[in-house]
Amino acid sequence: MQQSEILTSALFNLKKTAERINLKDCFFERLSSPKEEFKITLNPTLSSGRAIHIKAFISLHNDALGPSKGGIRMTPNVCIDDVVGLSMEMTWKTALIGVPFGGGKSGLCIDPTNITSADKEIILRSFIRGVKRHVGPEVYIPAPDMGTNEEDMGHIRDCISYSNGTSITSGCYVTGKPILLGGIIGRREATGKGVVYTILAACEKLGINLQDCRVAVQGFGNVGSVAAAQLAQLGSRVIAVSDITGGIRNDLGLNIENLIKHLKISGKISDFKDGEPISNSDLLTLDCDVLIPAASQSQITEYNAEKIKAKVVAEGANSPTSPDADSILNKKGVFVIPDILCNAGGVFVSYLEYTQETQREQMTLQEVELRLNNRMKERFIDVYKYSQNHTLSMRDAAMEIAVIKVTEALTARGYLP
Ligand code: NAD
Repeated sequence: MQQSEILTSALFNLKKTAERINLKDCFFERLSSPKEEFKITLNPTLSSGRAIHIKAFISLHNDALGPSKGGIRMTPNVCIDDVVGLSMEMTWKTALIGVPFGGGKSGLCIDPTNITSADKEIILRSFIRGVKRHVGPEVYIPAPDMGTNEEDMGHIRDCISYSNGTSITSGCYVTGKPILLGGIIGRREATGKGVVYTILAACEKLGINLQDCRVAVQGFGNVGSVAAAQLAQLGSRVIAVSDITGGIRNDLGLNIENLIKHLKISGKISDFKDGEPISNSDLLTLDCDVLIPAASQSQITEYNAEKIKAKVVAEGANSPTSPDADSILNKKGVFVIPDILCNAGGVFVSYLEYTQETQREQMTLQEVELRLNNRMKERFIDVYKYSQNHTLSMRDAAMEIAVIKVTEALTARGYLP
């Protein structure tokens, strides 16, 4: 079987970093594989009475800096290697954004768009019951990722407290929950807003005026829709967006508010009337200033990278650019804001949710947004300066900072268990 593109790309980035910083072999070996990985088969009985079987995976890559953190992906083709690669990325992301977590990830091999919300709840509860011993505030704290959302995190939270026979949980078991159940205000928007804060910082460095910016967004779920709405609000022209059904383009700028309303009714972007249809592949190579891949992995490859016209690629998605494509973009002088920095706003606000729940406090939206904005800007500047001082791309700089920090934590912990 071919190795997953996500894992290939994660291992490539680690190897390249290890060579540049002369990482000791013992650290390289240790960081090339997850600390623990689990495969389970779920056998839930759906509301129709039909029993089904679903493959599910958890990877806990590294916990040197704290408990593993990472979302639950629910897609029909997710595999263990994808989950391992994504958990590795989470280790770098949490280290880079400066939260006391390690890297983890889960995957459930099912298409959530083809099931009712009642059946989705049954499946997620079955998953959590099956993996409960691997989930907890000191072990692994899941959150939303592709195919899962706030409502799902609410069900997970309930499943855990119900199994414990309590109303609340002692500490935070899951982030991205509804506010009513201990979630934090602003978490749903945090990843998309974080993407925008890094774009603002990049535009400032590159002398691009946001008001003159033409933006294309691939993927219009949690991350893509929030980023598009924010940029439109700040005065940029969002000229194309897409989802899995296809895209819509309007060179004068799409009305994102109307598009979000339309999506709630229709369920797909491609039949929005105020524009012309555009395919997902044409959207990526559209003449624009900022391109935000915010859908699935491996969208920018050696086959289309040469045709990318954007000046800035802001990786809202995890692993959207293959290593070959990354090198082409670098040679072309495209400014790539790497995923481990660009989309780290979600895990940063998840950390605020974790501390809020531990202390039974409630933060205001103003506080959350201020802290998110400051942290994204700070870390962008750290990575930018490092890249300038060491003549590296933003991705290579971000990887060096993160890998060095994780190895320092491993060293500080000592060598014996
Ligand atoms: P989501 O499920 O809310 O939305 C995904 C969107 O992408 C949908 O519009 C879907 O139709 C579209 N899509 C899926 N496959 C596609 C394809 N092949 N071509 C075009 N469009 C496609 O997911 P999300 O939470 O917005 O996550 C999107 C990406 O951002 C993922 O890579 C995820 O790992 C990453 N990410 C999400 C978060 C978060 O907080 N949700 C945090 C960090 C990174």
